[in-house]
Amino acid sequence: MSQDEILDCLVIGGGAAGLTAAVYLGRYRRRALVLDAGGSRLAKIPRTRNVPGFPEGIEGPELLRRMQEHARIYGVPTTHTEVRRIEKLEDGSFRAESDRGQWRARFVLLATGARDVEPEIDGLHEAMQAGQVRFCPVCDGFETQGQRVAVLGRAGHGLHESLFISGFGNEVTWLAMATQEEVDPRELARLRDAGVRLADSPPHRIDCGVDCGVRVALQDGQVLEFDTLYPALGLHHACDLATRLGARSCPDGQLEVDVHQQTTVDGLYAAGDVAMDLNQISVAAGHAAIASTAIHNRL
Ligand SMILES: Cc1cc2nc3c(=O)[nH]c(=O)nc-3n(C[C@H](O)[C@H](O)[C@H](O)COP(=O)(O)OP(=O)(O)OC[C@H]3O[C@@H](n4cnc5c(N)ncnc54)[C@H](O)[C@@H]3O)c2cc1C
Repeated sequence: MSQDEILDCLVIGGGAAGLTAAVYLGRYRRRALVLDAGGSRLAKIPRTRNVPGFPEGIEGPELLRRMQEHARIYGVPTTHTEVRRIEKLEDGSFRAESDRGQWRARFVLLATGARDVEPEIDGLHEAMQAGQVRFCPVCDGFETQGQRVAVLGRAGHGLHESLFISGFGNEVTWLAMATQEEVDPRELARLRDAGVRLADSPPHRIDCGVDCGVRVALQDGQVLEFDTLYPALGLHHACDLATRLGARSCPDGQLEVDVHQQTTVDGLYAAGDVAMDLNQISVAAGHAAIASTAIHNRL
């Protein structure tokens, strides 16, 4: 595909949302291209068990490979590169730039996802593969039934995640990182009613191992043991390309979109984790279907 050509749609990000959009745009016989930096959260999933059509679950990297193949079949290629800048031109079209070149398109679909804030734990990747460290209770809280679970996070996010996880028939401890003073006493009472324990001394060191599970040494000298740890330290939504164009974002960094997934910038759409909504594969695919159909109808 020549860089002089004006594309119908440039899809930035080749994860769950971007690749679903590529399938739709390819099947609408549109000229589209995916530009992807290669950091999809799908690649971090040991096995997802809530994606429709996979009752036995599927490993994240295998799902990603199948989605890439699906987009390729319908003629939408992927170029591996990180987009540094998008600008809107006078005629309403867009120009995107990376180290590998420039591309022009009538519409842009931003599907750049989000990145989890990760705790400092040696062997984090192995611990995630073993299910000792998990990042998404919506995705895999079900798998923690009967387990001792720790939630590491400050007041607000950490507390709400502790309450959410306590609904799965497990034993939850909130590692509050010394932020419990900031919490409304009514919220602390809700936590107690839900059976969540509170570790008020901040964690000093966290170790994971195949034999020992998750071991948390607190600053006051106590050592606690768990089967699973959920870091609840937040997410960085990759919205900068859009906000630099003037798109509005919510306080947590997700982009505001309308019912067709259009951001507050005309012609710029957003789908998946970067857009307002629940961070899930099915949601990303749904956003992408809506956005690519809206784009198709405007071409
Ligand atoms: C450990 C873990 C387990 C999970 N388990 C599940 C589960 O079981 N079920 C479920 O539904 N969800 C699960 N999720 C969430 C799921 O992975 C995400 O919701 C989904 O991948 C979002 O798709 P996306 O396309 O928005 O983002 P991603 O799939 O993350 O893709 C975004 C892509 O955009 C690229 N990108 C970013 N910036 C640029 C740029 N400037 N230029 C070019 N490319 C760029 C990135 O490199 C990346 O490849 C899990 C997530 C994690 C981390």
